[in-house]
Amino acid sequence: MTAIELYNTATRRKERLKPLDPRNVRIYVCGPTVYDRAHLGNARPVVVFDVLFRLLRHVYGAEHVTYARNYTDIDDKIIARAEATGRKVREITDETIRWYEEDMEAGLGTLPPTHKPRATEYLGQMIAMIERLIAKGHAYAVDGEVFFRVRSDPRYGRLSGRTLEGMRAGERVEVDPRKEDPMDFVLWKPSDIEGAAFPSPWGMGRPGWHIECSAMAEELLGERFDIHGGGRDLIFPHHENEIAQSLCAHGLESGGAEGMARIWMHNEMLQVEGKKMSKSLGNFFTVRDLLDRGIPGEVIRFMLLSTHYRKPMDWTEAKVREAEETLRRWRGLVEGTEPAAEVAMAVVDALADDLNTPLVLAQLHEMARAGRAAELKANAALMGLLGDELGGWERAPQAGADVAARIEKLLAARLAARKAKDFARADAIREGFTAAGVVIKDTPEGTVWELAPDFDPAKLEALD
Ligand code: AMP
Ligand code: ZN
Repeated sequence: MTAIELYNTATRRKERLKPLDPRNVRIYVCGPTVYDRAHLGNARPVVVFDVLFRLLRHVYGAEHVTYARNYTDIDDKIIARAEATGRKVREITDETIRWYEEDMEAGLGTLPPTHKPRATEYLGQMIAMIERLIAKGHAYAVDGEVFFRVRSDPRYGRLSGRTLEGMRAGERVEVDPRKEDPMDFVLWKPSDIEGAAFPSPWGMGRPGWHIECSAMAEELLGERFDIHGGGRDLIFPHHENEIAQSLCAHGLESGGAEGMARIWMHNEMLQVEGKKMSKSLGNFFTVRDLLDRGIPGEVIRFMLLSTHYRKPMDWTEAKVREAEETLRRWRGLVEGTEPAAEVAMAVVDALADDLNTPLVLAQLHEMARAGRAAELKANAALMGLLGDELGGWERAPQAGADVAARIEKLLAARLAARKAKDFARADAIREGFTAAGVVIKDTPEGTVWELAPDFDPAKLEALD
């Protein structure tokens, strides 16, 4: 059997994956807080762990891998959204989950995880875990609020390598006087907001974020499992606190992070054109924005796999164009080809070496260059590429330089007409585009266009 080596944040080295039960390899990945469309950065862990899921299924057999990825459907941001919009919490979370699945599964071709637990469906397990922590002296209740007692966990900080002293020194905000230690964190807090308040032994309230994952992972995967993943911003405090809660609830407080999950994996962050994505810089995109702008989901997926997951990734328009060209070429090559029966050992080995997806893309390039279409198709499937799910976009007609220049000229004329309040002329140009099969879309960054399958160059030429 292929030896899979993965970098373990907990030990800071690559380790051989030795499943606790090879007939049920278990992985938990922290999923989204559901109040808005997922942004491009959120898609990185989804695609990276999808490739790990595919690799595990390939090596151990699809029926022997269990993958859980949660939805945090109770959170301050969701409540704030409900209050700002006057909508019900449940309405917002249902809608956002639907969007998430449209964008990540249909849009980016990720396989649905085995379990997609919603936090609000595991309140009983969370409350039971908090009660166990209180009974063992690891948590305490004050005024309807329950805190985890970090000092009761002798190895608190085991994942991030932080010490309590170091963490307290960094503490600058006002400390809640009810806390025994400034680093104590919330397990349960009072709430009276409709849709975000649930009965508990401490009164109506809602769970803290960290306890959700401890309780759902225990329920779905057991007390110990193989891999726990997420973005590196989750190492502290989220994963640190998950480990503290789970180990203390399970009576393993003197142990290390492996007492919860054997391997802890974290992806690095994604940036856009060298800068942190932010709304104020105007470089903040949701996956839906990109799909709507005509960037194929397969191209987004390729981009996200072109940088190793432990390296910061820079999203640039130039790389998007290159990825699109590559995939278009590959798709042309494999069209009508049956995939080879076997995948290449070298490709599996590259993925088994801490998910070396850039190396796999280089290997696929090599197969394409040599015209080995059947092989290319079979191996690309391990990366979720060149399958039917994400195909079809490559058949849309491509604009040559003449067509592009003509469209840009007409768009400029339309803009000028609008500025001059000549709306009849602006509308006529838009209708002309529609008739010629040029789809235009006005976005905050300007007007974008693409050719529809029924694009007719003669009609475009006739426009003026
Ligand atoms: P959130 O909904 O904010 O809890 O994030 C969901 C997932 O996306 C977590 O695993 C985060 O670590 C990850 N994530 C958030 N922002 C980025 C980013 N810019 N690059 C990569 N991963 C990110
Ligand atoms: Zn989590």
